[in-house]
Amino acid sequence: MEEIMKKQVPVTKNQKLVVTIEDLTYQGMGVAKVDGYPLFIDGALVGEEVEVHVVKVGKNFGFAKVTNYLKTSPDRAFDVDKVYLQTGIAPLQHLTYPAQLEFKRKLVVDLLNKVHLNNLTVAPTMGMKDPYHYRNKAQVPVREVNGQLEIGFFKRNSHDFMPLEDFLIQDEKIDETLLKVRDILRVSGVSAYDEANNTGMIRHLMVRRGYYSHEIMVVLVTRVKKVPNLDQIVYLIQQQCPEVTSIMQNINPDKTNVILGKKTIKLAGKATIQDTLNDLKFDISAQSFYQVNPQQTEKLYNEAIKKAQLTGNETVIDAYCGIGTISLNMAKHAKKVYGVEIVPEAIEDAKHNASLNNLDNLEFEVGEAETWMANWQKAGIKPDVIMVDPPRKGLTTSLIESATAMEPKKIVYVSCNPATLVRDITEFMERGYHVTQPIQPVDQFPQTTHVESVTVLERTQND
Ligand code: SAH
Repeated sequence: MEEIMKKQVPVTKNQKLVVTIEDLTYQGMGVAKVDGYPLFIDGALVGEEVEVHVVKVGKNFGFAKVTNYLKTSPDRAFDVDKVYLQTGIAPLQHLTYPAQLEFKRKLVVDLLNKVHLNNLTVAPTMGMKDPYHYRNKAQVPVREVNGQLEIGFFKRNSHDFMPLEDFLIQDEKIDETLLKVRDILRVSGVSAYDEANNTGMIRHLMVRRGYYSHEIMVVLVTRVKKVPNLDQIVYLIQQQCPEVTSIMQNINPDKTNVILGKKTIKLAGKATIQDTLNDLKFDISAQSFYQVNPQQTEKLYNEAIKKAQLTGNETVIDAYCGIGTISLNMAKHAKKVYGVEIVPEAIEDAKHNASLNNLDNLEFEVGEAETWMANWQKAGIKPDVIMVDPPRKGLTTSLIESATAMEPKKIVYVSCNPATLVRDITEFMERGYHVTQPIQPVDQFPQTTHVESVTVLERTQND
């Protein structure tokens, strides 16, 4: 067997080669082919000729590292000052921003082509003016390095922790707050989490900042509830960070790489921070999902609203509604909006946010979108528009079945994963729905490979 395998694979470990990059994977890795055998190469771009060193050889593909660039791409960004960030936080940092936007559009096009939907149009990705320091939320691990408490990041697909001070894509005020809190933790003598032994106190720091309100929430994610000198830590944060209006503690006792635990306690200030989107106010609690790029979120929602073509008479369902951000935006232009979301705290926020904005044409339910879609269908609700904004795993067949059984005129699909979007489009097509407008990618995550987009499906006439 081994011999056959060796014969089939045209490269060997540690071999040095010169290759030309033909494609980029959805994770932003360069792909070169050696006699048809794909080698994945980090940090190399399409068209580049590179000298590489083969580091891993598998049966069907291998990995190599660049040792020398012989010819570079015109799309290469040379102002990359922290190359190591590319391995964890900013995997597309070496690609110029216009090329990143085209990369994201092409990803959607290629996935559509794979299922023979070449006839669908994908519009140019909507980008942002300054594609750095855009994130309104940070969740950074806290670890001990050389006897000192540090904040940082893990290299992609690894447990290698790198201490860091400038996170490149986070709001700079968030980075400032993180560093102040890190220093407070250091002087307070509290220990950092130790993953291997599940010991130590502080696992993560989460910081959120309202883009318009400038309110900041700090969440200390701790392994246990009782943390030494916690009162002092809270006092010092209040003293040294006047923009912090909420200090929370989240307790996560488990040996897991899930960041937040189930329990959140208020340590000081309010339990929420406020932000504004399209002139609507939103109170956001620690556990609730909230889009991370506020400037691009306004563009994304405006696209979704425009594509829904609401006149004020419609009934709308917003599945996966979070704290009701899309629901409230739609409610201003519709007769009635129903929202469903699985996180109870988020629905509490959603209900509160509706009244905060004096909107009374919304109803929110806690539960699985699948269950509620079926419930609404049984109750005879006739939505004109169904909005879906699911997590990366996309929709289930049962949700698609109940949604299409209600025969809405339009389904507006906000997607954060083009692979599941394309899969779901084919399922909608089997049930008489077709994509009627260009798919619109909106760049919510510059410097990363994440692709967000809006798609509209409509019922085929005479169906
Ligand atoms: N539309 C919102 C949230 C989108 S993120 C916004 O733009 O802010 C996806 C949301 O789906 C998250 O809030 C997540 O908690 C929720 N969710 C995940 N699985 C779910 C399910 N099976 N049913 C309902 N909601 C779900």
